[in-house]
Amino acid sequence: MSERSTDVVVIGAGAAGLAAARRLHERGIDFLLLEARDRVGGRAHTLSSIHGSYPIELGAEFIHGAARSTRELMREIGEEAIPSGGEFYRLRNGRLALESDRWTTTERILERVDIAGRDQSVAAFLDTMPREELSAEQRADVCALVEGFDAAIVEDASIIGIAKEWRSGVNDTSHRPLHGYAPVMQHLAQIAGDRLALQTVVTRIEWSRHAVTLEATRAGAPLRVRAKRAIITLPIGVLHAGGELFAPALPSEKRAAIDAIAMGPVVKVALEFRTAFWEQVDNGRYREAGFFQAAECPVRTLWTRNPDRSPVLMGWSGGGAALRLRNSGLDSTGAALDTAMELFPSVDVRAELHAAYLHDWDADPFALGAYSYLRVDGGNAREGLAEPIDDTLFFAGEAASSDDSGTVAGAFDSGYSSSELIAK
Ligand SMILES: Cc1cc2nc3c(=O)[nH]c(=O)nc-3n(C[C@H](O)[C@H](O)[C@H](O)COP(=O)(O)OP(=O)(O)OC[C@H]3O[C@@H](n4cnc5c(N)ncnc54)[C@H](O)[C@@H]3O)c2cc1C
Repeated sequence: MSERSTDVVVIGAGAAGLAAARRLHERGIDFLLLEARDRVGGRAHTLSSIHGSYPIELGAEFIHGAARSTRELMREIGEEAIPSGGEFYRLRNGRLALESDRWTTTERILERVDIAGRDQSVAAFLDTMPREELSAEQRADVCALVEGFDAAIVEDASIIGIAKEWRSGVNDTSHRPLHGYAPVMQHLAQIAGDRLALQTVVTRIEWSRHAVTLEATRAGAPLRVRAKRAIITLPIGVLHAGGELFAPALPSEKRAAIDAIAMGPVVKVALEFRTAFWEQVDNGRYREAGFFQAAECPVRTLWTRNPDRSPVLMGWSGGGAALRLRNSGLDSTGAALDTAMELFPSVDVRAELHAAYLHDWDADPFALGAYSYLRVDGGNAREGLAEPIDDTLFFAGEAASSDDSGTVAGAFDSGYSSSELIAK
């Protein structure tokens, strides 16, 4: 068994772990960054299109809200953010209709939530609203939004958590990194340099005050790492599954915080076509389309890279919709293609298909889901997760971000904060 020693061991080289490592490096603190996969970036996973001219993002794709840390990193390496947007079309009675105020009703309903009041699930909250104030269609819209943006299960998600998030503006989608998230992640990986160990799966974390011993396998061979402190950026899904990971077990308050945060499922499929055929349909009516929604389809949302003209449609199914898709037994790529065929019956969509890409985040043992949402009565669970234990175990990652959970920017900030606590 090989052994290494360091001051701080950082577990996971996604956005949070890479950011944490960067701060430690800047403060001259010795560290090791351990990552299970053979790549950095975690839930930011950029592939290249067949012709290499645009990125295919199987995980994070957009820059949500202010995202200051993401934008700063992009500036640092001269990476451009391109606007994202475009028109929103919804399939109604077999025809695509343009909608200009797609979220107004939903936002108005979420405005009614008393965030200082009693918490309940999104579904239970909607059940309290009289039919005259919330039609069946409006209810379905709210659920679609909560499932689509928050990857949440409406019977499980906290209405206060969802309402707060919407009011914070974190869900505003305005840009994409021109070359995807990979350049930013690579930049941080370079800063970590030879302190980064890929293909290193942590299997056990033994800890006492200022003494952490990790058991891991590195490319299959056993490895032991000793450190004074650990920054743990494991996704919340992995923490849920890791009952035996910590010895001694985590204190009950920490376990309660972890249990109050759920990991939302997402199915994301990239369909790369020979041409951006939708731009020609109906005399160019959909040339400026950003989003297409077909509420009845198992994969109900497809989006373009508008204003970029890449011939790609991204299929998305989140939260409860992703669970229904999984339980249907349908092949996700086929289901996304079916949606495209439903939207554009005049086009031979299958003949247009060049390549399809899918990553099953739920089945990915190093993610076990897409991103987190707060469960009913979750309250300050994110702050509770971020709270260090005995100046020894520090927790970071999107789930530990109170302002920007579920985003890359939130993960960066959380990683920076955890290192800053250590550096004090
Ligand atoms: C499909 C999808 C779409 C998304 N879309 C967006 C978007 O448009 N915009 C946005 O801002 N955010 C988006 N997100 C969310 C964003 O990707 C995450 O919030 C962010 O990347 C999380 O970073 P993190 O460092 O907290 O976790 P991760 O990136 O998951 O990093 C944790 C790391 O720990 C590693 N690990 C796990 N287990 C072990 C182990 N036992 N030993 C060692 N290492 C381990 C993992 O491999 C991983 O690299 C999306 C996520 C998904 C899945």
